[in-house]
Amino acid sequence: MNQAVPERGCGECGMCCKLLSAPSLGKPPRKWCGHFRRRTGCDIYADRPSECRGFNCGWLLTPSLADDWRPDRCGFLLHQDEGRVIVEVDPSTPQAWKKPPFEATLRAWAATGTEVVVLVADKGLRLGEPDRPVKARRT
Ligand code: SF4
Ligand code: SF4
Repeated sequence: MNQAVPERGCGECGMCCKLLSAPSLGKPPRKWCGHFRRRTGCDIYADRPSECRGFNCGWLLTPSLADDWRPDRCGFLLHQDEGRVIVEVDPSTPQAWKKPPFEATLRAWAATGTEVVVLVADKGLRLGEPDRPVKARRT
C-alpha cells in the first residue's frame, strides 16, 4: 500500500466515502456511504472493508500538493488507475477542478505525458490538446 505523507491525515474530509464505490458494501459512487458520520468519520472504522482500508487519495500521498488540494476543500479527489491520474469531481461542484491552481497543474501533468482523466458524474474528459471525451470508468 502507498504510504501517506507523514503528519497528513484525512481530518473531516471523507470525500472518498462519497465519491468512490465500496462494492463489498453495495455502496455506489457519488453517494455518501451510510457509515460516514460528519465530524467522527467512519462508524465501522476498525471493520471497514478492504477497499476502504487500502485507499489513500492523491493528496494524502503527494507531498507537493498543498492543503488546498485536500478533497473536501478543492471539490475533487485524485487517485491512480493503471497509470492514469483520475480526477474524480464532486458532482455538486462540477467546475471545481477548473479553479486556479488546479486546472493549470492538471494540464501541466498532461502536457508532460501523464494521462489525466477528469470524471464529472458519468462524463469523462482526457486532458490534452485537444481534450477528448472518454468513457467514465470507476473502481
Ligand atoms: S479523499 Fe483522501 S483525504 Fe479525504 S477522506 Fe479520502 S483518503 Fe482521506
Ligand atoms: S465503510 Fe467507512 S471508510 Fe468505507 S466508504 Fe463507508 S464510511 Fe468510508
